[in-house]
Amino acid sequence: MRNLILIVDYYRIFFSAVFFALGATLGSFLNVVIYRLPKGESIVYPPSHCPHCGHKLVASDLIPIFSYIYLKGRCRYCNEKISIIYPLIEAITGITTALLFLKFGFSLDLLKYIIFACILIVIAMIDLNTGYVYDAIVIPSIFVGLAFSFFTIGFREAIFGAIFYGVLFVLIILISKLFYKEGGMGEGDLTAGIMIGAFLGLKLSIVSFILSFIFGSLVGILIMLFEKKDGKTQIPFVPYLALGAIVSVFLGGKLVSFYLQLF
Ligand SMILES: [Zn+2]
Repeated sequence: MRNLILIVDYYRIFFSAVFFALGATLGSFLNVVIYRLPKGESIVYPPSHCPHCGHKLVASDLIPIFSYIYLKGRCRYCNEKISIIYPLIEAITGITTALLFLKFGFSLDLLKYIIFACILIVIAMIDLNTGYVYDAIVIPSIFVGLAFSFFTIGFREAIFGAIFYGVLFVLIILISKLFYKEGGMGEGDLTAGIMIGAFLGLKLSIVSFILSFIFGSLVGILIMLFEKKDGKTQIPFVPYLALGAIVSVFLGGKLVSFYLQLF
């Protein structure tokens, strides 16, 4: 019995490491998408190069996370500093992928939520960098979420999740247009919300919306305290939606049953 438990644990540790490496490699590809897509560049050509000196990067420059540490955060060819964001995205994608494996094991849910996490990381980072939500990514992703639902949460749950976010965000956009001439929530946030709803389904959508609202309010209050913004500035909202969605994938089920126990 004890031996069996040990084997199971080694198995989990081994595959967590495998999925971390896989996720970090995925993250390295997401970096390319995040960096090139807003500039209208191809994500496959030209091959990876230093954004400063343009030198083509070789395999040993491209090992996720390790290359950054080994090169002490500088380009091997021109010595220019490399942004910490790149290894961070690799680490975040790696950790998320490993945690998803620990939660779901080898299942369709694992594949679904790895794809979902990648989409969220890309649209959150592009929103942070540019202030735009890429409908070219988000709208096809709605259909990916709906397609997965047939084999996971069920189509009804997914479509209600999408409708929940859609109706709620249309209301928020209409109300914020009444109060502010500019800024506030945009149409890009609406499509991102519908996409999240389609992946999560209704129950987790409600949890994720509440979590996003809490994260967004906390950071919003901090920004207003320290930067004295007037509330008109367009605040990128997708990063909070993404954070709320990911946290609800891991904890949403527990939070729902905890809430239901209260009654
Ligand atoms: Zn360089």
